[in-house]
Amino acid sequence: SKKHKVTVIGSGNWGSTIAKIVAENTKEHSDLFHEQVQMWVFEEEVTLPESSKHYDPKTGSTAQKLSEIINTYHENVKYLPGIQLPSNLIANPSVEDAVKDSSILVFNLPHQFIKRISEQLQGHTLPYARGISCIKGVHVTSSEISLFSEWIGEGLGIYCGALSGANIANEIAEEKWSETTIAYDPPVVDSRAGTPTGPSPSASQTNLVITPADGGLKDVRSKTSKIKLKAVPAEYPPLDHAIFKTLFHRPYFHVRMVSDVAGVSLGGALKNIVALAAGFVVGRGWGDNAKAAVMRVGLLEMVKFGKEFFGDASRAETFTEESCGVADMITSCSGGRNFRCAKMAVEKNISIDEVEKSELNGQKLQGTSTAKEVNSFLKARGKEADYPLFTAVINILEGRNTVDDIPDLLAREV
Ligand code: NAD
Ligand code: 13P
Repeated sequence: SKKHKVTVIGSGNWGSTIAKIVAENTKEHSDLFHEQVQMWVFEEEVTLPESSKHYDPKTGSTAQKLSEIINTYHENVKYLPGIQLPSNLIANPSVEDAVKDSSILVFNLPHQFIKRISEQLQGHTLPYARGISCIKGVHVTSSEISLFSEWIGEGLGIYCGALSGANIANEIAEEKWSETTIAYDPPVVDSRAGTPTGPSPSASQTNLVITPADGGLKDVRSKTSKIKLKAVPAEYPPLDHAIFKTLFHRPYFHVRMVSDVAGVSLGGALKNIVALAAGFVVGRGWGDNAKAAVMRVGLLEMVKFGKEFFGDASRAETFTEESCGVADMITSCSGGRNFRCAKMAVEKNISIDEVEKSELNGQKLQGTSTAKEVNSFLKARGKEADYPLFTAVINILEGRNTVDDIPDLLAREV
């Protein structure tokens, strides 16, 4: 029988942490998986920081390729410094080569870069591969909002689930306990015909198509995915909840498996907008009560957004009961990058983009672009007023409101 080969696409702060987890598990479960895990690295030249234990004063200023540094020292000195990566994790600067023969693809990179990578991958992935998206964000065009899991799936002709939770990467990289949620709910595929025989039980793989000519919300409708799914060959261990739990669960990283892909993906995307608002009020010098008020409204808007635009395809309980919902919002509003950068921007009276550049050493915020994307979707539907917190955040980012306006803007909560 065959074993699954796993590739992690992305090697940032969270990408490297998830790759560490996966490589630890493929080594422990070599009956199910190839031990070696490939990790695609967006190549760049890096000089080792003086604080690095690998720093050599003789060659100190010499730039080296990040993928070579990772493969030599087993450390991502730029995006996850100080953390020893497993030696069965191989950094690969060619994404096409990294996914070769992989039946499990884990997508983990800032959402602004996934489009180009997905396009580059077309025709290079196994037709029966399955994906898990760890990306926090939504894909928005003027007429459509979709989940990255589905958008990746449709682009590559594969099924893709989602992993999201209260997961600040550095804590998990240091093996401090946390929980996460994985949603995986592929349609049943007839292995002889290789085609889906029916929708998944929760029909969670949907995206929304808005017909602009008709206008109005009646025309926001779910469409079942057009993916012509290929069955995973019978020689492989089945790709079910149990195997994904085995791949991601660690003593310090507890996995709960669910079926609500839309709820899991939306929670991770929308909480980033809430975290910016929390950063704004704390940066303004207001206290924990103000932050809690923002979080209360934020959670309501997350649930409402899911219900209004994803209908039965997402469950309110996913937001209120799972790590990917309320817990992620709480951790993100405590120590997340979106929170910290928004707070600092208000304290120093500079833009968040400036803070992102000066403080994050190449890591990327997702909240600022998600706030804009969600707002353009709401605006096109005439729904901005129904989401006062989401709308306040974009208006503050773009200078139409100030943080001092937040209490009044939220008093209009509907
Ligand atoms: P990151 O913020 O560390 O971003 C840096 C990564 O982006 C690097 O791998 C870099 O090589 C890559 N990059 C830069 N320019 C690029 C380009 N032009 N094309 C392709 N890649 C490029 O990334 P991350 O923390 O790994 O985040 C990935 C996803 O995981 C995001 O959606 C994020 O919201 C989510 N997430 C992050 C955390 C966290 O604590 N960091 C936790 C949970 C989820
Ligand atoms: P930030 O991107 O704001 O750091 O949030 C990390 C996260 O998603 C924690 O679950």
